[in-house]
Amino acid sequence: MSEANGSLSKCKVPSTEGRDPAYFSYYAMLQHQQNMLQDSVRTSTYRSAILLNGPLCFLGKLVLDVGAGSGILSYFAVQAGAEKVYAVEASQMAGKMRKIVEAANITESNGPIRNAFLKDKIEVIQAKIEDPDLPIPKVDTIISEPIGVLLIHERMLESYIFARDKYLKPGGTLFPSMGSIYLAPFTDATLWSETKGKARFWEQSTFYGVDLSALYDDAKDEMFGMPVVGNFDPHTLIAPADPLGYVVDFNSVTLEQLQDMTIPFSWQASYTGIIHGIAGWFDLHFSPSQAGLNGSTITMSTSPAAERTHWQQVRFLLKEPLAVNAGQLIQGWMRCIVNEMRSYTIEVEILVGEGQLSDPLSASSSIFNMDFNRRRGKWRLHEQTYNYNYYPQPDNVFRPEYNCLYEPEQPLDVTVDMENNFVNENQFIL
Ligand code: SAH
Repeated sequence: MSEANGSLSKCKVPSTEGRDPAYFSYYAMLQHQQNMLQDSVRTSTYRSAILLNGPLCFLGKLVLDVGAGSGILSYFAVQAGAEKVYAVEASQMAGKMRKIVEAANITESNGPIRNAFLKDKIEVIQAKIEDPDLPIPKVDTIISEPIGVLLIHERMLESYIFARDKYLKPGGTLFPSMGSIYLAPFTDATLWSETKGKARFWEQSTFYGVDLSALYDDAKDEMFGMPVVGNFDPHTLIAPADPLGYVVDFNSVTLEQLQDMTIPFSWQASYTGIIHGIAGWFDLHFSPSQAGLNGSTITMSTSPAAERTHWQQVRFLLKEPLAVNAGQLIQGWMRCIVNEMRSYTIEVEILVGEGQLSDPLSASSSIFNMDFNRRRGKWRLHEQTYNYNYYPQPDNVFRPEYNCLYEPEQPLDVTVDMENNFVNENQFIL
């Protein structure tokens, strides 16, 4: 799929500053830093990416760590040979990180020296990276973990890109260098029914003698407008995601493009079944190739089929499910627009089989469903709810019908006759 296309929003960019006190008090707590450190997929991927590219991107280099937190990425950069690391952290966690750094700088007579390898290597700066006049020179490499649910939640990518534009030397390295967002349709009748059940509370007409049903439509909008974060069974996917994903190249994406992104999708249903919504996840890539260097490219996946991470996956439930036959084309778009809650408002159109997609940039904001084979939806990525019903059991034999998905009797042929409402291979190319 294409890169972040970013239809430029004419209106003012919603500010994140209103959320700063809550956001930075969260990150000031060791338990939240610990949660990230204990995500061994995350932490060990960063460590491999940094150490394996040590000679090219870190040895003798100036490094900036954007949002250093407990400092783990800065410590890896020093282990990889960095000359100096500027560790910028806006929350009170900066003071805690300083304790680790200062313990390496004391003399032996003052107590045990911990992490001697860090001595004189790290400068901790408690500030927002956007603050003016920070004592930071242009650096060779920027490291950061600015990633939220579906890659983009928290809007910290904007701080990362700001740092790139202000502090990275031309040809310098960004770690991570790229993110890819993946979307795929899923079925989950239980999750859908639970959500509908919550909304149905407001359908009552005799609740202690009061008719609540004037709020039933609002309740459905609210309950179905909450993205569901959690790990789910990859067997519930009705079609595979586009293997390339939607690429956000951190070396080239602009701040403006991050304000408003439209992700097109086009899938061929592997099964006959009911689409209850769209699932999303991302990969992160670390590649020093920007600098023309021949290093090691490292990739980390948060797919439902990969080892679990603290990001999990996210699912967007449709208010009204959509039936699909094996082999049918499913297409549409997901538009992600920044909001003032340090997150994104997400709009989707999904169409099964024949029909013309609306233009995402001019589609009305109505979330009413229009045709029997088309659905619209709207979600606020910060209003997350959680679902933890899936625990993989590797020894179990799986059959699609256990998830109410039905295989075609003949294997799917992507070039079969269009007249039978099957798809032509070319239709997958957007
Ligand atoms: N780098 C650490 C922490 C990642 S969490 C690790 O990998 O474990 C992101 C951190 O960035 C949080 O501690 C948060 O307080 C900080 N942060 C977010 N936005 C920032 C900004 N604009 N300037 C400075 N720090 C920021």
